[in-house]
Amino acid sequence: MTPSDMRAPMSFTPDSRERLLAIFELAPIGIGIVDFEGRTIMSNEALRRMLGYSREEFAQMPFEEYTYPDDIATNLQYFSQLSRGEVDSFQMEKRFFRKDGSVLWGHLTSSLLRDDDGRPEYAIGMLEDITEQKVLAERLGAVQERYRLLVERVPAVVYIAEPGASGGWHYVSPQIEDMLGFTAEEWMNDPDLWLRQVHPDDRGEVLAEDEILATAQRGVSSGYYRMLRSDGEVIWVRDDAMMVKDESGAPMWHGLLVDVTREKDLEERLEHQAFHDPLTQFPNRRLFRDRVDHCVKRLERNGEKRAAVLFIDLDNFKAVNDGLGHACGDEILVLVAQRIGACLRGADTAARLGGDEFALLIEDLDEEGEAVVLAERVLEAIRRGPYSVVNRSVTVGASIGIAVQGSSDSAETLLRNADLAMYKAKARGKGGYAIYESAMHETAAARLRLEGALREAVDGCQAGKAAAEHGLSVVFQPIADLGTGETAGFEALTRWSHPGFGEVSPGEFIPLAEDTGLIFDLGRWVLNEACEQIVAWRATGGTDAHMSVNVSPLQLEDDRFPAVVAQVLEDSGLEPEALILEVTEGVLLAERCRDALESLRRLGVKIALDDFGTGYSSLSYLRQFPLDILKIDRSFVRRIQGEIEDQAFVHAIIKLANTLSLEVIAEGIETRQQLEALRAVGCRFGQGFLIARPAALPSTSAVFLS
Ligand code: C2E
Ligand code: CA
Ligand code: CA
Repeated sequence: MTPSDMRAPMSFTPDSRERLLAIFELAPIGIGIVDFEGRTIMSNEALRRMLGYSREEFAQMPFEEYTYPDDIATNLQYFSQLSRGEVDSFQMEKRFFRKDGSVLWGHLTSSLLRDDDGRPEYAIGMLEDITEQKVLAERLGAVQERYRLLVERVPAVVYIAEPGASGGWHYVSPQIEDMLGFTAEEWMNDPDLWLRQVHPDDRGEVLAEDEILATAQRGVSSGYYRMLRSDGEVIWVRDDAMMVKDESGAPMWHGLLVDVTREKDLEERLEHQAFHDPLTQFPNRRLFRDRVDHCVKRLERNGEKRAAVLFIDLDNFKAVNDGLGHACGDEILVLVAQRIGACLRGADTAARLGGDEFALLIEDLDEEGEAVVLAERVLEAIRRGPYSVVNRSVTVGASIGIAVQGSSDSAETLLRNADLAMYKAKARGKGGYAIYESAMHETAAARLRLEGALREAVDGCQAGKAAAEHGLSVVFQPIADLGTGETAGFEALTRWSHPGFGEVSPGEFIPLAEDTGLIFDLGRWVLNEACEQIVAWRATGGTDAHMSVNVSPLQLEDDRFPAVVAQVLEDSGLEPEALILEVTEGVLLAERCRDALESLRRLGVKIALDDFGTGYSSLSYLRQFPLDILKIDRSFVRRIQGEIEDQAFVHAIIKLANTLSLEVIAEGIETRQQLEALRAVGCRFGQGFLIARPAALPSTSAVFLS
């Protein structure tokens, strides 16, 4: 079919017909003449360009073929109405497939062309490309939808409200109901509701801010305040709003309310955590220092009263931790904290400074004596009754250092002084308290000098120098068979004599050696001296006595220790059975020491439990650990001639030791009565001043009066 067959243009002259065709061809919108089979028998350039098909392709394809599937049904329905002459034209927006497969949105206007008799003949379609508009509109719709979802679904309330105490609410998103329990309608219908629900304590501040910014008619407000839910619960909100002028120029808040109750709670918890010890909930070192600082400054200004700081350090707590495990250690710390807390007056502060260190701040002290009374009360409370954890009962002791604020003492000084005093208390033999005296600084400095001297001494004996040069030596205290009076063995005890410090007692230099790590070299040297000595005595003195050597817990915990012992035995030529290593009760608690003890016993060496009765252990340890000998501490021996109960106790221990095949050695026998009492309860061995004092060359065959 060609345009020449078309009836309507026939009435034009050939000339005008051509012009008409040219107009058709060049028209800026797409035009097509479509037969009732849907084929576009005539198409202009714009249409071909729009959809990309050639004249011939248009003429062969019914329009369904390049119509987007969703639009075919509607299009066909309109088209058939048109072709039947029921309508003269129709319009629709529809999608087409371009030849390249892309989609074009078109606005189609289709009109009916009738023949001379008025019968439907063709349809003429005019197509406008509206793709761009459509895409834009679609995007806009999506964006709007997204914003709507955002506004209605974010966990926040979006609002538009007038400023002022009872400014009307123009918009509030539905989340308000979740947050405060009022519907958006209730909220918008009641201009006073907002202020009523602001927490009374926060109202003044919130309104003031609102007023300032409303007067300025601009600005951004951002703040936290509390609100009351309809059920009365208090929540924290963050309110971020911007002052915006509406169309009429009136100021309006556009804002966002967020429920931040959880964050606030967390924040409070974090703050608490930063200043408190999580285990005991006591203030931590930071907060304590702060409190001391405040208190000192306050009292400085007010004169009269003073502050005091008490440093509390638990005695031998490491043994509890190592032996029972940290979980039990923690449990005990909590119980200790409770006992300390119970001793306080209202205004005092108890803190945990870390590990097994606690501190007290006493405010408004009238006299030093009050601090001492409190220290005694705390010591008593900590000591009183054992702590039972996981079926064990453990006793805990503590040492306390007291520092009372002097006229020019800063918080720093006060804390340091209490710490120094605490060391003094420990050095005096634990379990007590000491009051800071200015001489203690001198002590701290002296300790440093002593440390240097001990290092020199240990280095000296290691280098094989003469005893006269380094000052270290070993003395031996005989251990006797209480039945026969014969010397059964010796205990090696270290001595240190320094030109400047004089005779330093092992009670002082052994802990110092432990603190500085010198104990490893010192311990090895002592062991070697002792072994060499007993080998010499055995060779010449006709004795088969044992040699006992004290071992520090640190040495036993050192993996290399069993090898050190083996080496010393080899070097000295001593048979292992003749060596007894004395360990303290605390050591037994540490599981890892069990391996060391077992390796030592495999060597053939014997193990003695020293100072039995003074530590933390219970009798059950005697069964659990590989032991050969039990040394009953001299504190028991001292009591044995007194209370009948004490006597019975020692007796029971000896009986238990016998059933466990443990030998018993009683320590510190000073009187005949003690000796007789020990014999009476069947104690086989003993040592003490009554029998012999420690000496460099004791008699190897001492027989005392029987
Ligand atoms: P320890 O193991 O309990 O040693 C016994 C202590 O009691 C010794 O004190 C000894 O002189 C003393 N003593 C002996 N008989 C009596 C007595 O009848 N009455 C009284 N009141 N005391 C008596 P020393 O020599 O001052 O030693 C003190 C502590 O130092 C020892 O106690 C031991 O734990 C430690 N020590 C000494 N030498 C060494 C060593 O070489 N290595 C290690 N790790 N510790 C050592
Ligand atoms: Ca000992
Ligand atoms: Ca002892």
